[in-house]
Amino acid sequence: MDGCIFCMIVRGEIPAKKVLEDDLIIAFDDIAPQAPVHTLIVSREHHAHIGDDVPEVLRSAMMGAVPRVAEAKGIASSGYRTIINTGPDAQQSVHHLHLHVMGGRRMAAGMVSFEEGR
Ligand code: 5GP
Ligand code: ZN
Repeated sequence: MDGCIFCMIVRGEIPAKKVLEDDLIIAFDDIAPQAPVHTLIVSREHHAHIGDDVPEVLRSAMMGAVPRVAEAKGIASSGYRTIINTGPDAQQSVHHLHLHVMGGRRMAAGMVSFEEGR
């Protein structure tokens, strides 16, 4: 899709620090990491989000890439968190299907924080 930053990375038009790839997905490090390890698993095909009629084979490939990324990044046994932000309340900022794999440091208990008054 024109103007989509992740489509541009998939097409090789802008660089990214690639972790692994296959015919359906590409995984690369987040440009603004929020954990010592912060890797994105991105579908090659453009879909706005996980609710956007994503073929089962692609959903499966995204999920299947999670432990492979964790292994590649050396956090398989220390543990990691997997996040998919969808829509405004989740603060999704890139509207191309992707999944975050984060780890490398012990996280605090509690999974989310909320904006004041919302
Ligand atoms: P979202 O908030 O949509 O779930 O996550 C989008 C993520 O993409 C953010 O963590 C952001 O730092 C990352 N990101 C945005 N633009 C780029 C880019 O050009 N390259 C890489 N590697 N990551 C990006
Ligand atoms: Zn896209």
